[in-house]
Amino acid sequence: MVKELKKNDKTLYVCEECGFGYEEKEWAEKCQRWCQRHPSCNLEIIQHGAPVEE
Ligand SMILES: [Zn+2]
Repeated sequence: MVKELKKNDKTLYVCEECGFGYEEKEWAEKCQRWCQRHPSCNLEIIQHGAPVEE
């Protein structure tokens, strides 16, 4: 499961493996599936990401 992070009125979906955030759940799930199998990040997935600010 990806983590949901509420940010103002938006929801970000965060990959629990690498902590990268996405505006679309689909990409966060793709990232997490990748991260569970591969030790490094997939640039093609990461370019769809959104910065997670605390
Ligand atoms: Zn990831």
